Amino acid sequence: MKRIVPVGNINIGDGKISIQSMTNIPVEKIDETLHQIDKLQQAGCDIVRIAVPTMAAVKAFEQVKKQVNIPLVADIHFDYRLAIAAIEAGADKIRINPGNVTKSQLDKVIDCAKKHNISIRIGVNSGSVNAEELALASGNRSVALINSLKDYVKYFESKDFYNIVLSVKSSDVRETVELNRMAAQLGYPLHLGVTEAGLPQQGMIKNAIGIGSLLLDGIGDTIRVSLTGDPVEEVQCAKDILQSLGLREGVTFVSCPKCGRCSIDLENVAKEVYNYVKHIAKPLKIAVMGCEVNGPGECKEADLGIAGANGQFVFFKKGVLYKRVDATCGIEEFKKEIDLLL
Ligand code: SF4
Repeated sequence: MKRIVPVGNINIGDGKISIQSMTNIPVEKIDETLHQIDKLQQAGCDIVRIAVPTMAAVKAFEQVKKQVNIPLVADIHFDYRLAIAAIEAGADKIRINPGNVTKSQLDKVIDCAKKHNISIRIGVNSGSVNAEELALASGNRSVALINSLKDYVKYFESKDFYNIVLSVKSSDVRETVELNRMAAQLGYPLHLGVTEAGLPQQGMIKNAIGIGSLLLDGIGDTIRVSLTGDPVEEVQCAKDILQSLGLREGVTFVSCPKCGRCSIDLENVAKEVYNYVKHIAKPLKIAVMGCEVNGPGECKEADLGIAGANGQFVFFKKGVLYKRVDATCGIEEFKKEIDLLL
C-alpha cells in the first residue's frame, strides 16, 4: 500500500493529484515572490517550490513563508546546512538529491525534518547515475537510477523516516514513463514531470504525454509541468492535463476548428470566453462554435454554448438554441449567462 505524505495542508498520495510549480525569481525579492505565489495560487497551484541557494535566501524564504497560506517547498541542491536552515525557517517540505550530500550530512537533515515533522522529496534524475551504478545495472541507465532510488528509500527507512515523496526525472518522455512505472513499485507517492521540457508549446506536449500516460495507469500523486516561461502557464497546463483525465473538476472548454461556414472572429471569441472560464472549478462544459447551422448540433453535450450567426450570436444549452444577441454585445451577454449558470 502506498503511503500518504503530508505537505502543509496537502496530503500527497491521498488520491487527489496536487499541482506544483516553482517561483522563477530570487526569493530575496520578497514582494515579487509573494505576488508570483499569489498568481500561482489563483491559477490553481497547490504547492509552491522555491529555490534556496544561500543563507540570505533562507532568511527571505522565512519572510515569505510567514505571509502565505500555501505549502512551500525549499529546493536545496548541495549544502545540507541550507536544508536544515530552510526546515527551521518553516518549509513544509524540502527537495534534495541525497547523492549531493554525505551520509552524515543527510542524517542531520533527516533528524531535523523528523523533529519538525515535515516531508522530504528525494529527487534523482537521469544525470545522477555514476559509472559504478551503471555497471551494476549492466549498462541500463533506468535500472541503475531506480536501484539508486531504492537504496535511498531503504536508507531513509533505516532512519525511521517515511515522509518521503519520490521523483525520478528525465527530459525524455519515454524514459520518464519507464522510470516512474518502476518507481511506482516502491510504495511512496510520486512527483511526476518531464524535466527541462522546453518552451511552452513543445514542453506542454511532452508533459501531457509523459504525465498523462502515467496518470492514466494510476501512477503519480503530484505533478509539475516544467516549462521555460511563466510558471502560471505551468499550472494552467497541469490543470488542463488533470481535467482532461477527469482528475480535477473544472470547465471543459471546447471550440470548433472553424471552416468556411464561420462568419465570426472565432479565435478571438474562443480566447476571450476561455480566459473567462478557465479558473472556474466546476464541472461545466462550455462551447464556442463557428456557426449556428452546425455548432449547437456538433456540441449537444455542452451546458452552455455560443455560436456565430451573421451579425449575431446564438446561445444554446445542450444543443438547443434559446437566445439571439447582437454581435456587438454578444460576448458580454454570454459571460452573464455563464455567471447565471454558476
Ligand atoms: S461549427 Fe460550423 S464553423 Fe465550426 S467547424 Fe462546424 S460547421 Fe464549421
